[in-house]
Formats: sequence, structure tokens, C-alpha cells
Amino acid sequence: MPTWEVIVVGLGGMGSAVVAHLARRGQRVLGLDRHAPPHDRGSSHGMTRVIRQAYFEHPAYVPLLLRAYDLWRELESEEEQPLLLLPGGLMMGAPDSAVVQGSLGSARRYGLAHDALETRDLRRRFPQFVVPDGTVALFEKAAGLVYCERAIEAHLRRATRHGAALSLHEPVISWRETVSGVEVVTSKRRLEAGQLVITPGPWAPELLRDLGVPFTVERQVLAWFEPSAGVEPFLPDRFPIYIWERTPDCTPYGFPAVDGATGGVKIALYRSPEIEVCTPETVDRTWRARDESRLRAVAAEFLPGLGGRLVKGAVCLYTLTPDLNFVIDRHPGTERVTVAAGFSGHGYKFCSVVGEVVADLVTTGRSPFDLSLFRAARFGTVASGSAGPTSA
Ligand SMILES: Cc1cc2nc3c(=O)[nH]c(=O)nc-3n(C[C@H](O)[C@H](O)[C@H](O)COP(=O)(O)OP(=O)(O)OC[C@H]3O[C@@H](n4cnc5c(N)ncnc54)[C@H](O)[C@@H]3O)c2cc1C
Repeated sequence: MPTWEVIVVGLGGMGSAVVAHLARRGQRVLGLDRHAPPHDRGSSHGMTRVIRQAYFEHPAYVPLLLRAYDLWRELESEEEQPLLLLPGGLMMGAPDSAVVQGSLGSARRYGLAHDALETRDLRRRFPQFVVPDGTVALFEKAAGLVYCERAIEAHLRRATRHGAALSLHEPVISWRETVSGVEVVTSKRRLEAGQLVITPGPWAPELLRDLGVPFTVERQVLAWFEPSAGVEPFLPDRFPIYIWERTPDCTPYGFPAVDGATGGVKIALYRSPEIEVCTPETVDRTWRARDESRLRAVAAEFLPGLGGRLVKGAVCLYTLTPDLNFVIDRHPGTERVTVAAGFSGHGYKFCSVVGEVVADLVTTGRSPFDLSLFRAARFGTVASGSAGPTSA
């Protein structure tokens, strides 16, 4: 019998949740990571992530989101500090924009509480924004943010409380299916497990080379600007999270001032016309003057109160699939391997439920959720069932 029932490779946002759910079910589980999560080399750093239910990307995400909220709340109840902050959220744009139309579609289909705001309502309720004629919004009270590094710590704490073994600074080099399970070779040793879970974040092109999914990794930046005339208008009791489709390829989003007067107000671009493809090894992790000037120019167009100094900037990585939907599936080359990757810049809010879904796939072979949007084989290429330098 292999030493481990399950090995989980990658303990970032997703893998930390998977290892916590598996350990809680009594599985003999080992989690491995090349770094020491939470860290700033992958996709799960920068303090906060947007969470919302009226999902404009596709209504099929809504049942998963409703469960994700329950699971975040449950995890939060085991912790001494909050994991969620829900000041509400604005999905803004032209009435026919994907952000507004898609959010309204999901809200109506699933009966999610929301307010449809006309231009004048927006200007009255949220005077912080410069709102051009023709801009409308959906306001969702349940929207807000997850504290991302804190949530990884919480999942890893839960995992160790339930007996999981975690080994950090131990990169997995290759894996292959054997007669009795899966063999995993790391920088330090050779391991055997009944099953393998791969949650590699932006290392997906390397670790899931044989999956047949054309992943693209992109450099993304986040900036925190100081408000120029006091932080009050940006505090969470007055300022929600927002996503604003200004043009189809320029969609800024942002957060309230979660750290009061000292931390700045975070702004970034969900989708932007300037794309920089990279890998976790080649990405330029330095903060460039151009990063600041781009985000400052975007903010100046619609949040004039954010003109103060740059408090901090960060570089993060997206791992995109061609259709921007996730990959959550059994590896098409082997039943013994389960994969969760390609979260396409919108995965964090789902970590809690992805942990449960993957634990279901590992322990029962199925999930109560419809995962057809997330099939690995949808891109039509063939997977082979091993990866790394030892694969032929
Ligand atoms: C700037 C930015 C803003 C975002 N905003 C939002 C948002 O507002 N809302 C939202 O829902 N989502 C958002 N996302 C997306 C979300 O953060 C990601 O989808 C999510 O963090 C992905 O988690 P992950 O576990 O797949 O990757 P990661 O957290 O990067 O974890 C992967 C882990 O695998 C480990 N690893 C890799 N290779 C190996 C190996 N060979 N051996 C061992 N370990 C390995 C890495 O060290 C890492 O710890 C944003 C992302 C970025 C970059």
C-alpha cells in the first residue's frame, strides 16, 4: 500500500483548500509546495480578492459561489480574524456590456438580491466615481472581498489540525502512474501515493504539460494609492468593491480602504489591452514606473479622489485558458490524478468550494456540481498521464 492516500502538489489558494478538505475527511494526505505559502511568487497574494455572486462570466458559476460563501463562513468561524469583508459590490458599464448584462442575467436566473442602478442613482449613491452618461450598474449587497493570504493560512492550519503532513520548499519534478498508484519525484525524494492532486497555479504549463490545455501565463499588476483628500470616502462603510467595463478590453476594478488611512486604496485591471505573456521564472517582478503611470491614468479618469502617492505596488500572475473558464477534472490520461488549474484571473473566491469539489472527486469519483464547463478535454488535445522530465 502506498505511504500516502493522496499527495497534493501546490499549496496556494486552491491546494491549501484541497489539503484541508481531504485531511478533514480522514485521508492520509501529504501537501508539497516549491515555496512556503502564502508567498508572492504565484497568484494568491496582495491581501484581498473580489468575491461576488451575480457572476457575469457565466451563470454556471453561481451554485459553486453559493457553496463557496458557506464554506468561507465555516472556515472563518474556526479563525480569530475575519476572512471576508462584504461592503457590497458594483458591476458597472454600458447597459449592454458583458459585466452589466451578465451580472443581471445570473442575478435574475438564481434570484440573487440586487439593485439595478441607473446613471443618476449611481451618481447619488456613490459620488466618489465620475460616472459618464450611459453608465449603469448592478449593486450586489453580498459582494465584497476575501483576505487571500489569511485564507491560505487558515486552510493550512485546518489541514495540519486534521493530521495532514505538509512539506515546503520541496518542488515536485515529475510524476507518473504506476501499477498501484502514482509515483512522485521531488527535489529531495521519491514518493508513492494512491492518488495525486495537482494545483500548480502559474506553474501549470510546466507541471501539466501533458494535459492538452493551452495555458497562458500573464504578468498583472496591483497598485494601492493614497486618497488625495482623506480616506473617509473610501472606507468600507461607504465604498464597495467595483468592476467597471469601460471598454470590452479595459475593465478596472478596485477595493475600499481596508487598512484605514495607512494602507491605500487598491486598484487593478481585470482585463486590459496590454498583455505580457511570461512564466513564473521569466516574469519581471520589479515594479515599473510604467505600471504606476498606467494605473494612475486609469484611476484619474473615474476616481479623482485617488490622486495621492503610491503606497505600494505588486506583480501577480494570471493563468488563462483559451475560454477563460477553469479546469477542474480528473486527468483525462489517468483516473488517479485530479487537476484544478487555469483559473484565468477569477479563481480565488472559489478556493473554498474547489477544495471540497476536488476532495469529492478524489474520494468518491464525482461531484454534486455540474463541472461540464471545466472539463480538461474541451480543447480537443490528447493527454497522456505523466509529466516532467521522466515522461517520454
Ligand atoms: C492581480 C491578481 C488579481 C486577482 N484578483 C482576483 C479577484 O479579485 N477575485 C478572484 O476570485 N480571483 C482573483 N485572482 C485570481 C486568483 O487569485 C487565482 O485564480 C488564484 O489565486 C489561483 O490559485 P492557485 O492555487 O491556482 O495558484 P497559487 O496560489 O499560485 O498556488 C500554486 C502553488 O503551487 C506551487 N507549485 C507550483 N509548482 C510546484 C511544483 N512543481 N512543486 C511543488 N509546488 C509547486 C506554488 O509554489 C504555489 O504555492 C487574481 C489574480 C491576480 C494575479
